[in-house]
Amino acid sequence: DSYASDSVDLLNDKLLGGLLADGFDEKSCLSRYQSATLHKGLSGKPSSYLISRLKKYEARHRECGPYTESYNKTVKELASGQFSESSACKYVVWISFSGLGNRILTLASAFLYALLTDRVLLVDPGVDMVDLFCEPFPDASWFVPPDFPLNSQLNNFNQDSNQCHGKMLKTKSITNSTVPSSVYLHLVHDYDDNDKLFFCDEEQHFLQKVPWLIMKTDNYFVPSLFLMPSFEQELNNLFPKKDKVFHFLGRYLFHPTNNVWGLVVRYYHAYLAKADERVGIQIRVFDTEPGPFPHVLDQILACTLNQNILPDVNREQNVNSSAGTPKSKAILMTSLSSGYFEKVRDMYWEYPTMTGEVVGIYQPSHEGYQQTQKQIHNQKAWAEMYLLSLTDVLVTSSWSTFGYVAQGLGGLKPWILYKPENRTAPNPPCQRAMSMEPCFHAPPFYDCKAKRGTDTGALVPHVRHCEDMSWGLKLV
Ligand code: GDP
Repeated sequence: DSYASDSVDLLNDKLLGGLLADGFDEKSCLSRYQSATLHKGLSGKPSSYLISRLKKYEARHRECGPYTESYNKTVKELASGQFSESSACKYVVWISFSGLGNRILTLASAFLYALLTDRVLLVDPGVDMVDLFCEPFPDASWFVPPDFPLNSQLNNFNQDSNQCHGKMLKTKSITNSTVPSSVYLHLVHDYDDNDKLFFCDEEQHFLQKVPWLIMKTDNYFVPSLFLMPSFEQELNNLFPKKDKVFHFLGRYLFHPTNNVWGLVVRYYHAYLAKADERVGIQIRVFDTEPGPFPHVLDQILACTLNQNILPDVNREQNVNSSAGTPKSKAILMTSLSSGYFEKVRDMYWEYPTMTGEVVGIYQPSHEGYQQTQKQIHNQKAWAEMYLLSLTDVLVTSSWSTFGYVAQGLGGLKPWILYKPENRTAPNPPCQRAMSMEPCFHAPPFYDCKAKRGTDTGALVPHVRHCEDMSWGLKLV
């Protein structure tokens, strides 16, 4: 009957059309079930192949997760340095590194890599991953257990470590006969040409055999996976629409914990829910001084007024607004500084808008500077990225992974504020993004087959250079 099918639909919507696994305890992670009430829904439908691969992944995670029989066996081999080809489970261990926006992007990248290579993703909780995200996989934790034998080394791995893949290539210590039980992958923006060979099929062939891959990265390296012949077919099947990779994986993986969800929901209902339209403006200024800077304010106003994102004000006369309830816009601003917010808020209080709309400006926090190791700071940063993703129109800052997370989760093509040079507002001030995908800031420019440099942004139509960083790569 129709009642039954309605409730099936409702459950289906709640679980994002099958993207999310059912069977979690709802109360332990409210956001997983309530996100559909704040978000507009997914942008597009995930392929049934993606959904089936995620279910397969969940089964593997259940089979190989911490303290399972297979895990215990593989860990033993790790300790002895010897391993049997038969180890059923292979792992990617993700090292907690860099700001929260970066971490969210690299977790999604590492997860996709695990999916493509039949590995299990384990997350180093570090000091700053606590109480941010719900466990994404049913019945098995994604955290590296406290007694994992390599825990004490995770923070010490670097390009000079003997287990570093690039270093092994440099010193020619990779042989056909022995396979190491663990290899460290240095995919941080300062990586060298040897480390970058990670993105060549030949090296993947070697890495495939290694049970434990330890990965440290601060980059969304997904675009380069799309340039590797060995992953091409599988990625095509997983993502018939290539501009939705982070959108789907992000909505699958990242569910705010109840504490963070409280920050999101309270703020949303208090300041944003009732407006006719919601606009997000994410201000990230990469300058040695904290600001606020007049050229940044000029740029924000030039972009939002030119593109009719915000209404202009009438400084000449105080026109009477027409009778009746005016249309309302709620502007969610995020920034480490409160200076821009105060100026824009005052402007809309002191003068009427040309359109008669009323504009409310809200900024949840002004933390002053990045404080990555403080829990409430990270929780607020995560809540703010999430709140930005709930807006209808989004303006972001160049180079900022904080903004990429918001646009990707929200399924939004933002207006990107160009990066100011010499403290001057660029002209034009902003540009519409080609896609909702994040930018890979430090991609390799290497043709693995020809063994020479190449422009990796010009090889296929769906991997292009980014709007905000000419040498970056993004999926479109
Ligand atoms: P990116 O540096 O812009 O790429 O973004 P990240 O998230 O990786 O690192 C910046 C960090 O600075 C964030 O994780 C926060 O800790 C802090 N931060 C930057 N901008 C904001 C903001 O608008 N609000 C809050 N709450 N924190 C911010």
